[in-house]
Amino acid sequence: MNSSRLIYLDHAATTPLDPRVLEVMQPAFADTFGNPSSFHTVGLRAKELVAEARASVARLLHVREDEILFTSGGTEGDNMVVVGIPRAARVQIRQQCGEEAKPHVIASAIEHHAVLEPLLSLQKSGEIELTIVPVDREGLVDVEAIKKALQPNTVLVSLMLANNEIGTIQPVADVGRMLLAWRKERKTAFPYFHSDACQAAEFLDLNVEPLHVDALVINGSKMYGPKGVGVLFLRRGVKLEPLVRGGGQERGLRAGTEHVPGIIGLAKAFELAQAEREDECVRLTVLRDRLVDGLLQIPKSRLNGHPTLRLPNSANISFLDIEGEAAVLYLDAEGIMASTGSACASASLDPSHVILATGLSYEAAHGSLRFTLGHSTTQEDVDRVIEVMPGIVERLRRMSPTNLDMKYFL
Ligand SMILES: *Cc1c(COP(=O)(O)O)cnc(C)c1O
Repeated sequence: MNSSRLIYLDHAATTPLDPRVLEVMQPAFADTFGNPSSFHTVGLRAKELVAEARASVARLLHVREDEILFTSGGTEGDNMVVVGIPRAARVQIRQQCGEEAKPHVIASAIEHHAVLEPLLSLQKSGEIELTIVPVDREGLVDVEAIKKALQPNTVLVSLMLANNEIGTIQPVADVGRMLLAWRKERKTAFPYFHSDACQAAEFLDLNVEPLHVDALVINGSKMYGPKGVGVLFLRRGVKLEPLVRGGGQERGLRAGTEHVPGIIGLAKAFELAQAEREDECVRLTVLRDRLVDGLLQIPKSRLNGHPTLRLPNSANISFLDIEGEAAVLYLDAEGIMASTGSACASASLDPSHVILATGLSYEAAHGSLRFTLGHSTTQEDVDRVIEVMPGIVERLRRMSPTNLDMKYFL
């Protein structure tokens, strides 16, 4: 490795644990090891700690404590919503729309796999009707397109707050207001509105009131908290069939002994993220723009996602005529950690569904690289990437067959 310092630019995949979070978690592994469902002293202490964490998360989201459910992460929260809401609505939809009617769900084309995969599976098994709404070249969903897709049997709309690959921030509040009006006009509770906010918790105000969402998911892993723990905000009155059944934990909606240290850590991480986000947004925007400007000096490169409606730490750039995976390995050899897109999908070599949804060709999508900055990122890190990247692209281009589709770069 050329540089002794590791440059981690993959914060959208996961963040390191903040030492301040580790500090509050540690006692819960040793002293407060109790099961919150036990009636004795050790159990009650654990129960109190979980209650404090729940109150803290509820305050930051501006919701009630009984609307907060702790989960094993973003994936579980998303699955609970997109599977559990249509299932709970089945009978009502049949009564309202006829014996043949199935619950209908609308999701954007660039949702995380944790939303899309369960929905595609329910569609395949015939449990739901599914409409995937497209995005434009900058990765934005059109509120009108969602409105046009609404049907009398629509029970759920799912639109992420910010995308994990290209960072585009979606018009969630606009969609929320549109759905509110639609429901009011028809005097119906459906459709419910879900937003995956895993990438947004670190940077955006997560007061859910102006968003008008009925469900929202965050996780510890993306905001310097522990992995394997998440939050599902579920508005009071929303019916959801549980996925994990057993003991009656989490209002009977998510059974299993609570991950007490994880829950405490997540609450602390969320508190820190929301308190510090404004300063961090300013700092990272400057660094991110410096990185983007530097990398776009490389010929035949293009910024993916929206130029301004994007997370402050996120830069996704396509370099024509290279393989993104190869570039990740070359960067790693220089001590720089980036990715080709979603960490969850990079085991497969298929191009990203997000980049393809913005209209890029397969070839261009193959050459996309994601750099996501974070707490540790300095100007020297950014300058180091700008210094080594042209050589890597040039080397890979010499190795690659040319004559690829150029139209998105002109
Ligand atoms: C990481 C991520 C998830 C999955 O969260 P896990 O905690 O890893 O299960 C879901 N949605 C988005 C947008 C993410 O970034």
